[in-house]
Amino acid sequence: MSLIVQKYGGTSVADVEHLKNVARKVAEWKKKTDHLVVVLSAMAGETNVLLRLAHEACDNPDEREMDMLLSSGERVTIPLLAMILKSRGIKAISLTGRQSGIFTDGMHTRARIKTIKTDSIKKYLDDDYVVVVAGFQGYSEENDAVTTLGRGGSDTTAVALAVALGADRCEIYTDVDGVYTTDPRVVPSARRLHHVSYEEMLEMSGLGAKVLQIRSVEFAAKFGMPILVKSSFQDGPGTWVKAEDAHMEKVLVASVVYDKAQAKLTIAGVPDSPGIAAKIFGAIAGNGINVDMIIQNISVHGLTDISLTVPTADAKKTLDRLEAVKEEINAREVLTDGNIGKVSVVGVGMRSHPGVAAKMFSMLADAGISLQMISTSEIKISCIINEEDVDRAVRMLHEGFELGKE
Ligand code: ADP
Ligand code: ASP
Ligand code: MG
Repeated sequence: MSLIVQKYGGTSVADVEHLKNVARKVAEWKKKTDHLVVVLSAMAGETNVLLRLAHEACDNPDEREMDMLLSSGERVTIPLLAMILKSRGIKAISLTGRQSGIFTDGMHTRARIKTIKTDSIKKYLDDDYVVVVAGFQGYSEENDAVTTLGRGGSDTTAVALAVALGADRCEIYTDVDGVYTTDPRVVPSARRLHHVSYEEMLEMSGLGAKVLQIRSVEFAAKFGMPILVKSSFQDGPGTWVKAEDAHMEKVLVASVVYDKAQAKLTIAGVPDSPGIAAKIFGAIAGNGINVDMIIQNISVHGLTDISLTVPTADAKKTLDRLEAVKEEINAREVLTDGNIGKVSVVGVGMRSHPGVAAKMFSMLADAGISLQMISTSEIKISCIINEEDVDRAVRMLHEGFELGKE
């Protein structure tokens, strides 16, 4: 029995006309596959509108109520699609996260899927329904509350369901026709990739390429679920995200990734004694804050500076924690710089070819772009630079590494 899970993102379900387009595609697919599960996002921009409303309502919205609010966007699109399908004579049913059996931990606004009880979905599939599932949401038994999976979380709903149901593949329909060598909105000459390995996609998603949420790639990699990224607006082969195989080209640099939603915090004039870093990072840990890069300067007269970067969304929380620990460790001051961005190059070929970093740094230097922080792994190099230099750096690196060429 063939089973496909398809996910349609915000721009693909932006209004009723778009939902009718999705219904047309779903109707065609239902003829080609035995079972079809369709995961939907909220209409484009809707989750942002809800977030804004919450912050208008109060300064520090309660996280439980925030999830209740944010999950409502997907509650609108799923019944609409199911209605359209039914009106066209196709058996369909919409299900919320909870009705779909998606159980998460209790971390509101960034919950992780713990288990999926597939009995209900399976029953409907066996009965030949197209099952339309609300993306981005789950249910926490410990909190007895609706949870959401973090921005872009519908990708994760789709891949997790594909794994739990043993689907043949998970198809992600979006507003671009695949995964590109860089964001095609910043570099028009970016090229669609035929294949991307899980490993590269994990780095790309982690570094800011928002085409797939990182958790969805983690699920896919762990369980070997192939993902096919395609456009919901035009036909085409799309991009396969799957395990690296012998046929995949092991290019030096496969893609350039950027992330402007980053902030740098510096705790300056820190007395340089053993255990200081542990105290600082101990104060941040356990608050769900994702510290990315860390740099500690050489100490001068027994004092040092420690800088770290976090996603912009965590900057205020991090600042509060650092201000608190500043007194405790007798540091001079805490500085915040929101005017930074991260550019990275990713490629499995780097593993066996040294020299990529040198090439990247000299390209940035030639363009007069100064580097504030650097971090590397086996298959990526990232640099923190001024935010206003990010687009230029991306275009230049894309050209310098000749990524537009087949
Ligand atoms: P959806 O609403 O369908 O989930 P997203 O906006 O989350 O879509 O993700 C698609 C967007 O990701 C594209 O419009 C594109 O601008 C951006 N993007 C960033 N990097 C890449 C990349 N390397 N390849 C393709 N798209 C990318
Ligand atoms: N609607 C949610 C968001 O905008 C989830 C998603 O679209 O994947 O982040
Ligand atoms: Mg998305």
